[in-house]
Amino acid sequence: MRAAVLHEIGQDKLEVLDDVEAVGFGPGKVRLRIRATGLCHSDVSAMNGVLPQPAPFIPGHEGAGEVLDVGDGVTGLSAGDRVLVCWLPACGACPSCRRGQTQLCLAGFMNAGTPNFKRPGGDVFGFAGTGTFTEEVVVGAGCAVPIPDDVPFEIAALIGCGVTTGLGAAINTARVEAGSSVAVIGCGGVGISTIQGARVQGAAQIVAVDPVASRREAALRFGATEAVSPDEFADAKQRITAGEGFDYVFEVVGKSATARTAYENTRRGGTLCVVGAGAMDDNFQVNMFELFFDEKRILPSMYGGGDVLRSYERAIALWRAGRIDLESMITHRVRLEGINDALDQMRTGESLRTCVEL
Ligand SMILES: [Zn+2]
Ligand SMILES: [Zn+2]
Repeated sequence: MRAAVLHEIGQDKLEVLDDVEAVGFGPGKVRLRIRATGLCHSDVSAMNGVLPQPAPFIPGHEGAGEVLDVGDGVTGLSAGDRVLVCWLPACGACPSCRRGQTQLCLAGFMNAGTPNFKRPGGDVFGFAGTGTFTEEVVVGAGCAVPIPDDVPFEIAALIGCGVTTGLGAAINTARVEAGSSVAVIGCGGVGISTIQGARVQGAAQIVAVDPVASRREAALRFGATEAVSPDEFADAKQRITAGEGFDYVFEVVGKSATARTAYENTRRGGTLCVVGAGAMDDNFQVNMFELFFDEKRILPSMYGGGDVLRSYERAIALWRAGRIDLESMITHRVRLEGINDALDQMRTGESLRTCVEL
């Protein structure tokens, strides 16, 4: 079957190969036919080495499709079921799961070190134990979450990571208050979802901050009240908050420099919510005086910061009610040549639909 493969960390071009096989099927596993995949910033971060990932590997962890086959012992799933791919499946039994913080369950994530594809040349890993830039994948049954019939595959794929992450940051983690001022630094798919979450919560001002003009324009379409470049951020803070700083600032880039900017633009007593996934050697610094004296809350948000299945259900409910726009996210694409070209090749023949972008 076909899959888009990254041969070595640090390369920016995927190669579409037709000699890849999905392996590992057996008890507790399911085989999926991928029908739609998104491109999430973490895929790029794994490709360039910011996030740890063995190579060669197949990127993609935002996907949806149909169940082809279920292994022994799998309950609640059967061939033909429509599912989305959850890259962080909850075991249901560990302390995090019992507390309702299934986004912190590590049980399923341990599979990420086991290759679930192979080629004549050897093993191929799937990103985060999934790998959705492919026609078929074998994953643990917990990674296949049934979706209602009215949810198209492309929408379900987006809910599988970026939408859940961004909405959850605003709704679960920061709990944005109605009437508040919000700034979102980084306006790719997750940032746009954060903006939509802040809008759902009733924020009065939502300032999108991004150096790329097309992303700023997109942010305005998805609910930002204004969009500025990083150079213009200080002026926006002055104008909107009289220099005090925003009630909430979301860092959706994953770099210490932007996290520091976010911290400085948060008002005293306000909330800095860190959503971006960064590197292990990139340290965020706050001095002990400001940490205490300014009483800014620093809240990291991982995969929506709450029960993952509940986050999916909420995203579907908001989408169905027309309160968030996911259709426009499918068509809004930022081109990354080495990746999009490969996905375009994968898409020929309608076997795989691709959505988004960063
Ligand atoms: Zn668990
Ligand atoms: Zn992701």
